[in-house]
Order: sequence, then structure tokens, then C-alpha cells
Amino acid sequence: MAVSVSHKLKSLLVPSTRVVVFTGAGVSAESGVPTFRGKDGLWKEFNVQDLATPEAFARNPARVWEWYQWRMEIVSQAQPNDAHRVIAWMESFFSEFTLITQNVDGLHDRAGNRRICKLHGDLWDVRCLLCGKTERVTGLPPQPLPPVCGCGGMLRPGVVWFGEMLPELEFSKAEKAAMQCQLFFSVGTSMEVFPAARLPNLAREKGAYIVEINPEPTSLAGKADEVLIGKAGEILPLIQDSTTAFRTKRGNS
Ligand code: NAD
Ligand code: ZN
Repeated sequence: MAVSVSHKLKSLLVPSTRVVVFTGAGVSAESGVPTFRGKDGLWKEFNVQDLATPEAFARNPARVWEWYQWRMEIVSQAQPNDAHRVIAWMESFFSEFTLITQNVDGLHDRAGNRRICKLHGDLWDVRCLLCGKTERVTGLPPQPLPPVCGCGGMLRPGVVWFGEMLPELEFSKAEKAAMQCQLFFSVGTSMEVFPAARLPNLAREKGAYIVEINPEPTSLAGKADEVLIGKAGEILPLIQDSTTAFRTKRGNS
């Protein structure tokens, strides 16, 4: 059955100014970047304890780096998809727009978003364990693995691993945006990783209209005002079309 955007949501899109989009790995699925959980999720094949914890890195940094290098290779060959493009358009359309992402792949930046709350860091930032400096890399990490900083310290991926704290400033910005927004879209996230998954509930408690976009409804579905079942790259263009069509109908274009 074709998915349609409700009249209620259409009527909220144009007058709303404070809009939040909260994304997870599903937004990049149509770019060919594998998700973590779900049908073809990475954790079916790999063990999180061996790859995405500080303990794993201390035990075997080269192995952890190999996994991140593999993901960097996939992402560097991927292109932003229609979902990323609509989210970039939203940043220019809504005057107080906030993108909150759990993704570390950099595809939102490449699609044109400039103000992004990155809750789980960034694959392309590497950090020195000795001097603490963060460096932006464009290609693959220098070989051999693990790569080493100019100061001689070991470099680590600039992502947040299981058991680590989220960046405080980014998370407080995200909480503030969630609490103040009128419309909150949760797109392509399984809602299983906390504290990030608290954000839609926070927005809901403060009265925002909550929309979930996912081919498989999550624990949020029962609480959301609207659940649009389908791929982000197919549903988000409908939201963009609804917004522009509604604006034209009202004659404020
Ligand atoms: P996830 O893999 O848990 O969930 C992906 C979701 O996307 C699923 O609900 C799936 O149904 C949905 N999806 C699949 N295809 C889609 C499409 N085309 N359009 C829309 N939705 C689609 O990813 P998550 O929710 O982002 O996980 C939370 C975060 O946990 C991750 O983003 C990541 O930052 C973090 N994490 C990190 C590591 C690591 O290695 N550092 C490992 C696991 C999780
Ligand atoms: Zn250093």
C-alpha cells in the first residue's frame, strides 16, 4: 500500500520553524552502508565486544582499526542518497532546524548539512591517545595499523564506543532542541542505543508531534503521532513534496 503523509502533518510542516530530525544507520542504508542491527545488520556477523569498546581497543588496536578502515572504505565509495538530500534541504527551509545524528559516516556533511549534533562522533576524526589532538582525515588511516600521531602516541577512531560517555556539549544541544521543537522526525534508528534513544520521548513529553520513518516499526511506533513505514529515501521526498505543495496552495511561496 502506498504510504501517504497525513493532513495533520502536512498542516504542521509549513508553519513549524523548530524542527528536529534524529537519524540512525538506516538513513545511510540506501547508500550501501550496512546498518548495525536488523536483517542485514553488522552485529549478526561481528561481535561488538571485539570491535567497539575501549577494552577491545586496548587488547588489539590493529584489529579494531582494521574494522574501522573497512567501514571507511565502504563509506568513501558511498554517495549521499535522497534521504540525506531532503534533510539538507530541511536545514535551509526551517529557520530553527536541528539535525541530531548517531551516524559517524559523514554522509550528512557531504549532503550539505552544516549544523549537525553528532552524538557518536565521526569516523573521519582521529584522536591521539597521548596528546589528545583530533585530526580530520580524508583518506584511509596511515599504515601500518594502528596509526601513530606526530607526537608518537597511538591514534584512535573518533567515535563513541559502547561504555563511553557521549560528548557532553553535543548531547545537551540535542536535548535542548528536542525539548523545544514542534516537529520531531526519528528516521532509520532502531531506538536501541541509549541515551540517544531518549530524545524522541523527551520531545514527546514537551508536546512535539513525533513522526517515525522506518521500514520496521520500533519501540517508538506505539508512542509516535505518525508512523510512516518505508525507506527513508522514499518517504522523506514525500515530506518535501508535501511541504512545497502545501506552501504553494496557501500562496506563500
Ligand atoms: P541500527 O542498525 O540499530 O538500526 C538501523 C535502523 O534502520 C533499523 O531500525 C532498520 O529497520 C532501519 N532501516 C533499515 N533500512 C532503512 C531505510 N532504508 N530507511 C530507513 N530506515 C531503515 O542503527 P542505529 O539505530 O543508528 O544504532 C544506534 C547507533 O549505535 C549507531 O548509529 C551507532 O552510532 C551506534 N553503534 C555503534 C557501533 C560502533 O561500531 N561504534 C556499533 C553499534 C551501534
Ligand atoms: Zn599526539
